[in-house]
Amino acid sequence: MTVHLHEEDLPEGVLASGPVAVDTETMGLITPRDRLCLLQISDGGGDEHLVRFAPDSSFDAPNLKAVLGDSGRLKLYHFARFDLAAIQHYMNVTASPVFCTKIASKLVRTYTDRHGLKELVREMLGKDISKQQQSSDWGAPELTDAQQEYAASDVRYLHSLHDKFRIRLEREGRSEIAQACFDFLPTRARLDLAGWAEHDIFSHEST
Ligand code: MN
Repeated sequence: MTVHLHEEDLPEGVLASGPVAVDTETMGLITPRDRLCLLQISDGGGDEHLVRFAPDSSFDAPNLKAVLGDSGRLKLYHFARFDLAAIQHYMNVTASPVFCTKIASKLVRTYTDRHGLKELVREMLGKDISKQQQSSDWGAPELTDAQQEYAASDVRYLHSLHDKFRIRLEREGRSEIAQACFDFLPTRARLDLAGWAEHDIFSHEST
């Protein structure tokens, strides 16, 4: 198990075929304001790849874009809505098809309101991940070892969670509605970027 740090793009051919786990780190929560600093990706084989973007990056990352834009390759996220918007805005790629562990959790773990990644990894995989570096300076010229380890751990367990959630969704008869939600997520991300982030267009409220 190794964490690989790359600048501006993924080297060619480092990922095995099949689903990839994807996460992003940004300067904050407002996507057009807070730049994309890091994209983490893993094929589930034990290694994590971190791709760092400079403050003036053109996000011209052909190898990474080819993987993210490959409609034949499933992308696993935790809270895909945010990552999809950041990737769409900065890289101009719709990184689908999507499986989101947060949506899956909300659909099957109806006995709790705790749907954070740390909680899912703890309950479903019996492992402990630290969230200490979550709010740190991802735009710094050098990422600390703690930041790199945190960033890698955010994609490390998504394949295992995907396996568990597929079984749980099937058991509860919610696979189909989950898939419909996942299919809508790129559109939800586009609505966020287009100014409807705080407004639910399905709500009866007119605002
Ligand atoms: Mn993360």
